[in-house]
Amino acid sequence: MNLNRRSFLKATGALIAGSIIAPKGRALAEKRKSSHDNDWACLVDTTLCVGCRKCEQACNERHNLPKPKISFEEKAVLEELRRPDEKSYTVVNKYYPLNIGSLTWRERPVFVKFQCMHCSEPSCASACITGALHKNPEGPITWTSSKCIGCRYCMIACPFQIPAYEYNEPLTPRVMKCTFCYEYLKKGQLPACAQVCPMEVITFGTRGELLEFARWKIKKRPGKYINHIYGEHEVGGTSWLYLSSQPFEKVGFPKLGKEAPPRLTESIQHGIYKYLWAPLSLYVVLGGVMWVSGFFGEKRSFKVRKPDQIQNKEAGDE
Ligand code: SF4
Ligand code: SF4
Ligand code: SF4
Repeated sequence: MNLNRRSFLKATGALIAGSIIAPKGRALAEKRKSSHDNDWACLVDTTLCVGCRKCEQACNERHNLPKPKISFEEKAVLEELRRPDEKSYTVVNKYYPLNIGSLTWRERPVFVKFQCMHCSEPSCASACITGALHKNPEGPITWTSSKCIGCRYCMIACPFQIPAYEYNEPLTPRVMKCTFCYEYLKKGQLPACAQVCPMEVITFGTRGELLEFARWKIKKRPGKYINHIYGEHEVGGTSWLYLSSQPFEKVGFPKLGKEAPPRLTESIQHGIYKYLWAPLSLYVVLGGVMWVSGFFGEKRSFKVRKPDQIQNKEAGDE
């Protein structure tokens, strides 16, 4: 009953705010954002990670990825920053406190697990002209080999530089990235990395629940966490969310805006289509005028300019 009343008040409040206070665009943006609250998601609490690399190993085994030359037991690999690639959907990196000084030397390093962020509005899928990369109804972004033509637009579009290409497979190269263990999740299992983690760094749930959980953690331990949930707003939101004790740009995360790149692309595309009629109409009108005035019937001589003349003119224009 309480929940119903609260939901009702929330919905009514949102409607009033949307219709009276907020501009239409903002109300639409809010509606769009909340539509991802039910997406499957993971919250990574980097303050708990000890860099054991068991998540890397579990992912490798579940997805039959090539065995690495150096064993997963070897922690020395953490001394170099790595990225997910065509042989590893996830990697753990180690970041030392940047302010080495008398007050900070005792601080432990920060370990961060990276993989595809499973964006709420994925640029990779938006850029994929065949639909080989697409967002599933539950949120995970997956790749279908039969639809892929190998254009690799997804690699250019991803703001996190995640999709990797099997360049060494000349016959059947694949686009490789974390699948969110989608096939397993559909069967009611957890992502392999979340299941194996001995420190319970990774919590699985819906995006809405996990955002609430993350806010609760920050409120409960304000000295432990910075007041920022990475992925809540970045590029329109992501399904992998992060908590940290350090500013995110100091532990390997790109500083990104709130606007989802696909939305930007859509706006540009819509802008082009919307305003293209004006120059086209102008060309039609001018073409008509030239036709009527006999422009096309006249023989005209044009002076051919040499490339250096063009260059000189352009240099003079500057
Ligand atoms: S398994 Fe857990 S504790 Fe170990 S590296 Fe991965 S996220 Fe960190
Ligand atoms: S992180 Fe990159 S590859 Fe993953 S969903 Fe977002 S845009 Fe796509
Ligand atoms: S969700 Fe699955 S595919 Fe993605 S990093 Fe974890 S184990 Fe690997």
